[in-house]
Order: sequence, then structure tokens, then C-alpha cells
Amino acid sequence: MTALETLALRVHEDLKRITPLTRPWVPPRQLPNGEPALDVLIVGGGQCGLATGFALLRARVTNILVVDKAPRGLEGPWMTYARMPTLRSPKEYTGPDLDVPSLTYQSWHEAKYGEAHWQALFRITREDWAEYLLWVRDTVGVPVRNETEVVGIAPAGDLLAVTLRDADGKETVRHTRKLVLATGQESMGRWSMPAFLEKLPAALRAHNADPIDFEALRGKRVAVLGAGASAFDNAATALEAGAAEVHLFCRRPKPQLVQPYLWLTFQGFLRHFSELGDVWRWRMMSYILGLREGFPQPTWDRCARHANFTLHGGAPWLDAREVDGQIEIDTPQGPFRADFAICGTGIEIDPSHRPELSRCAANIASWGDRYTPPEAERDARLARFPYLGPDYQLMEKVPGETPWLRHIHLFSIASTMSFGASGSSINAMTTAVPKLANGITRALFREDIETHWASLKAYDTVQAEMRLPVPA
Ligand SMILES: Cc1cc2nc3c(=O)[nH]c(=O)nc-3n(C[C@H](O)[C@H](O)[C@H](O)COP(=O)(O)OP(=O)(O)OC[C@H]3O[C@@H](n4cnc5c(N)ncnc54)[C@H](O)[C@@H]3O)c2cc1C
Repeated sequence: MTALETLALRVHEDLKRITPLTRPWVPPRQLPNGEPALDVLIVGGGQCGLATGFALLRARVTNILVVDKAPRGLEGPWMTYARMPTLRSPKEYTGPDLDVPSLTYQSWHEAKYGEAHWQALFRITREDWAEYLLWVRDTVGVPVRNETEVVGIAPAGDLLAVTLRDADGKETVRHTRKLVLATGQESMGRWSMPAFLEKLPAALRAHNADPIDFEALRGKRVAVLGAGASAFDNAATALEAGAAEVHLFCRRPKPQLVQPYLWLTFQGFLRHFSELGDVWRWRMMSYILGLREGFPQPTWDRCARHANFTLHGGAPWLDAREVDGQIEIDTPQGPFRADFAICGTGIEIDPSHRPELSRCAANIASWGDRYTPPEAERDARLARFPYLGPDYQLMEKVPGETPWLRHIHLFSIASTMSFGASGSSINAMTTAVPKLANGITRALFREDIETHWASLKAYDTVQAEMRLPVPA
């Protein structure tokens, strides 16, 4: 038996010790044709979808399914568009383990490489993180169906009818009582790029989340827009692939060096931010998201060690066009020519871009609908973030038009204005996932209260006999 198999047995033993002797408790639901409905369908099998599935299994909500459009092992950014050798966050952060010590990354790493290796480790490689997530999924038995995309969500009585499309394009409909959107960075919109770049041919520009043929950039002049960690990672990848020059353009005079997500990693914030009123939630999250995420030291060093790397501060891109097969970019310092441009410009919140939300996108309440901050704190970008209910549910802009939104829970970076760090970083998972799972179990329990009442009244299992004489 391998050390990892032994560790998996220890996880099972630990889970037995902390899981009370309770049974699956959600009354089964059937459609009129006899087809069983799921209790919870989780869209997205990245770390947040997996951890949510695990939390529900621990709460004995077992009639669940996770679907992910990606093939197994390619969920989320880690083995696709993440272009850093190691995670950016400290190795000690825990998350998908939901506080089970044997399920932590450290336990996995020590089983695989030994304790000394863990001690010497600086940051977790993204390959190891991806492998660890698969191990967690298999060890705790979260049911995941890969290569299955959710392309539509519609109301069906008090259920949701969810259209699933498999890798062959075949569509089926599954019904569920609750749905969790753990669909990652683009969950409520899309990767954003200035419109003047978007209209240029794809051979000249890409977003940092796109597949990019870096080998083809050997000997080329590359321009990168943005100064977040992903922009630097893409610049470094181009440099390492042999680009002749890489120029990174930062809108601000200097890149952001502070990482606010390190500041917010304390239990008070992680547990209770979402309980604050709108004034404080807006004030704190708009400050944090306004700062944007700073990059860690290795990210900078990876670029700066190349003499052909240039950072341009105070240099937003104002316009761009194709000239002689190159891209010509207007900056306040004048025009700049490059062979290829990479945009590290983040996401744009706009649910109308999501096919699965086409029936409700227009009625999803945003922060802009619900709260008007003081003049000095206004921010149109952040006002588009969804304004979520206390259990991560989507809320209606116009009450009564799409009441079924209350069955859809959003767990992603788009939840951050309402919940602080939650689906957006590893450090928040051990507090955020149980909060989400509690919200779902609360709704499932309350909605079935009549059934539970009938069950209680019908309960006649005796636990003792009045035996006489009492056996010695
Ligand atoms: C490049 C990068 C590096 C990061 N590094 C760190 C770090 O070091 N530390 C840290 O704490 N955080 C980091 N983060 C932030 C965060 O931890 C990650 O974004 C993480 O992947 C979030 O997990 P998730 O499960 O919410 O989303 P994801 O991992 O993105 O998973 C979402 C899944 O949903 C699936 N999906 C989407 N739409 C559908 C659909 N309609 N139907 C079916 N499936 C669908 C996708 O295929 C995907 O697998 C990083 C983020 C990025 C982008």
C-alpha cells in the first residue's frame, strides 16, 4: 500500500470519528414521471465545487452531483491557464480539507514526498495542487461528472430544470432542488479586454486566460497589459519561451505591491464580514478590490531576471490597431509597436454573457441596484457585482419575476462584494464553504418542514422495552 493510500484510510477513519451517527435526511423528490430529482447540483468541479460537495456529504445530503465541462484533472486554472510554477499563497493555507487534519495539503505532501521535503518547501507547485485536489475528490467520494457543461437553467415548479451538454454535444435535462454555481472567475461574466483589442485578429492578441502558443512568440516583441500577478506570469512565460522583448504596461505609475488578501486572512474577517451591513461591506471590499491583487516576490523576480523585460508605469493603453501585421498601441507616452499583445485585465461582471443564465440574467440584483455608496466610494465596475442573499443566493432585481433565483447559490469571485474572500481564494474556504453548506441545508430542511413534522409524528421506534424481571 502506498503512503497516499494509507493516508486515505486515515482520512476515512478520521471522518468516521467526527461524523455523528446521522442518516441521509432529505426526503427524496420525484418528478410526475417518476424521475428522481437531485437535492443539489453543483456546477464546477474546481476546488470550490469539490469542497461544497464534501461539506454537503458531511451534512448527510448525499443526493448530489457535481458537473464540470473540463476533462478530469483540467478543472480550474491550475493545469490550463495558470502560468506560474507555484501557487501564490503561502503553503500553510488550508482549504478543501474543511479542517480535517489528515485531508490537508500538508498531510498529502508529507505522504507523497516526506516531512523533510515539506519543511524545505517554499510554495506548492500548481501540478501538485491539481493532483491533491483530485486525491481529495476521490478520497471523500464527491460524485463528479466531467465533460458535462451546464448550458441552461429554467424553473420547473419548485425545482430547477438544468440542461447538461456532454462532450458529444448530446443534451439531457436533470432536475434539482438547489444549484450551486462554482464556476470560477467567469461565473458571472467573462474575461475582459478593451474593445479596441477585442476587434483585432486573434493572431495579434489574447487574454491571459486564453490558450497561448508561447513557442510562437520566440524572437518576437510582446506587449502585456496589466500589472497583476497573472500579467507578470504571462510576461515571464513569454520571456522564458525566448521572446526578444517583453514590455509590461501598468496603468498606475507603479504596480500594486501590497496584497490585501494577506491582510484579510484572519478569522474575524473571514467569518463575519458577510454579516456586516452594506456600508461596511461596500467600503471594505471596494477598497480591497480597488487595490487589486499584488504579485508575490517570485513573480517579479521571474520577469526582472531577464534584461529584455521592461516595465512601463503610468502607461494605460488608449487604442490599438493592426499595422503591417503588427499591433500598434497608443499610450500617453506615444505609439508602441509589438508582434503580440496579452491582456491581463481580469474579469467583467455581466451575467448576460453566461448562456446558462440567459433566462434570469436581466433580473439578477447587483450591488448597484441595492446600495448607493457615498460619492467618494463610487465604482461602476464593482456596482455590477451581484448582491447576494445571506446564503449566497442570487437575489431578484424585480421581486416576483424570477423567484426561482433563490435556489441558485453563487460561490465564486463574484461573491466577494457580498461575502468577502469566499470562493476566490484558498484561505477563505474553511470558513466560507461551511457557511454555504449551512445555507443550503437550512433551505432544504425548512422547505420540507411539513414532511419532517409528519415523519416525527409517525415515529414509533421504541428504544427500550419495559422488561420484568430486569435481566441481571
Ligand atoms: C491564475 C490563477 C492563480 C491563482 N492562484 C491562487 C493562489 O495561489 N492561491 C489562492 O488562494 N488563490 C489563487 N487563485 C484564486 C482561486 O483560488 C482560483 O481561481 C481557484 O481556481 C478558484 O476555485 P473555483 O473552484 O472557484 O474555480 P475554478 O477552479 O476556476 O473551477 C471552476 C470550474 O467550473 C467549470 N465550469 C465553468 N462553467 C461551467 C459550466 N457552465 N458547466 C460546467 N462546468 C463549468 C470550469 O470548467 C472549472 O473547472 C488563483 C486564480 C488564478 C486565475
